[in-house]
Amino acid sequence: MRVIICGGGVIGACTAWFLRRHGIEVIVIERTEVAAAASGKAGGFLARDWCAGSPLDALARRSFALHAQLAQEIEGDWGYRPMTAYSGFVAPDGDPRRNAPSPLGWLANGVVIAQRIGTTETTAIVHPRKFTSAVMNAAVAQGAELRVGRITGIVRDANGTTAKGVEVEGSLVEADAVVIAMGPWSLLAAQWMRLPAVYGQRSPSIVYDVGTHVPADALFLEYDEDGSAVSIEVFPRADGSTHITALSDIAPLPLDPAAVAPDVDAIARLQIMCERLSPLFRPEKIIAQQACFRPVTEDGLPLIGKVPQSEGLYVATGHNVWGILNAPATGEALAQLIAKDATRGDLSPFDPARLRPLDPSLLQAR
Ligand SMILES: Cc1cc2nc3c(=O)[nH]c(=O)nc-3n(C[C@H](O)[C@H](O)[C@H](O)COP(=O)(O)OP(=O)(O)OC[C@H]3O[C@@H](n4cnc5c(N)ncnc54)[C@H](O)[C@@H]3O)c2cc1C
Repeated sequence: MRVIICGGGVIGACTAWFLRRHGIEVIVIERTEVAAAASGKAGGFLARDWCAGSPLDALARRSFALHAQLAQEIEGDWGYRPMTAYSGFVAPDGDPRRNAPSPLGWLANGVVIAQRIGTTETTAIVHPRKFTSAVMNAAVAQGAELRVGRITGIVRDANGTTAKGVEVEGSLVEADAVVIAMGPWSLLAAQWMRLPAVYGQRSPSIVYDVGTHVPADALFLEYDEDGSAVSIEVFPRADGSTHITALSDIAPLPLDPAAVAPDVDAIARLQIMCERLSPLFRPEKIIAQQACFRPVTEDGLPLIGKVPQSEGLYVATGHNVWGILNAPATGEALAQLIAKDATRGDLSPFDPARLRPLDPSLLQAR
C-alpha cells in the first residue's frame, strides 16, 4: 500500500513516521520546505491535561506521553524538556505593585506571578521546527520519500469515489490513499473532496536569543495596553531561544505559504510588551520577527479521519493552538486507521463527517 501525505508540517511528519512503523510506503509532498509554516514558527509548548473536560483530552494525554517517548526513540536534539508554567499579569501604571520586584528574578519589576499552572510533570516544550524536521528525517531514514511540489488536485477512479493519487502541478503521482495535512491550506482541498471549512488565524511572534539567562518557566500573562487586556505567552526553549506571542488577528491567508508575513504594527506593539517584561528582551537579541496561521475549524476541534463519501481519502488538520502537542497522537491514530489496526484510539470526536462540507463554489469565488 502506498500513501501520499500532502503537507510537510508537524502533522504530515508525524503521520509519515507512524505509517512507516506499520511498514506502509509513504510519499510526503510539501510545497515549500518541511516546517515552513506554523510548525516551524510555533511556541512548542506542551501540556498533559489542559484539554481536560473537552473531547481533546485523551488525544492530548496520549500525545504528551508520546513526546517524551519520541525524545528517547528518534535521533536528533529538538530541545524536549519538562518545564514549569505560571500565570500572572503586568501591573499597569498607577498600580501599587508597579515597582515591586517580580518573584521570578529574570522578570522586570511589576510582573506579578499569580499562580503556578504547570509543573515539570504536566508541562514541557520542544523546538517545533527541530522536532518536525527530526521526525520527518526519521521517517525518511525508515524509507519514506519526501518530495517538494505543489498539490493541485486529487485523482480518483472512474466512479469518482476512490482515490488513485494526487496531481502535482499537472503530473499524476499514484497512490492507494491520500492524507490532506496542509494546515490552513487544507481549505483548498474542499474543491477536490467533501471537506468542512478550515480557516487560518494569524499570530505574530518574536524570538529572542537569550542564552541560558531565562529558566524553563512558561508564562501566560495579561498585559494592559491602553486600557485593553492583551494575553501574552512566553516560551523559553532549551536552545536559548525564547518565543513570545500575542495579538492574534484575522487576516487573509496567502495562497503561497512562503508569502506569510507579520503585520508591522503588531510586531512593533509586541516588541514594546516584550521589553516591559524583562530587561533580557533587548532589540539586539531578536533573532526572528514572524507570523503564522493556525488551522482552525468551525467547532474548534481538529478534523482527523476518513473524508466522507470517499475511499482512500483522509484528512488531519484544524489543530488550532495545540498542533505541536497533538501531532504525535494524531499521526499514530491516523496510521492505525489507514493500516486497519484494531488497537486504534477513538477518533470519533474528530470525524470530518460531523461538520457540513464547504460549498466549493465559495472557494472558486475567492
Ligand atoms: C504563534 C503560534 C504559536 C503556537 N504555539 C503552539 C504551542 O506552543 N503548542 C502547540 O501545540 N501548538 C502551537 N501552535 C499551533 C501549531 O503551530 C499548529 O497547530 C500546527 O503547527 C499545525 O501543523 P500542520 O502540520 O497542520 O500545518 P502547517 O504547519 O501549516 O503545515 C502545512 C504544510 O502544508 C504545506 N502546503 C500548503 N499548501 C500545499 C500544497 N498545495 N501542496 C503541498 N504542500 C502544501 C505548507 O507549506 C506547510 O508546510 C502555535 C501556532 C502559532 C501560529
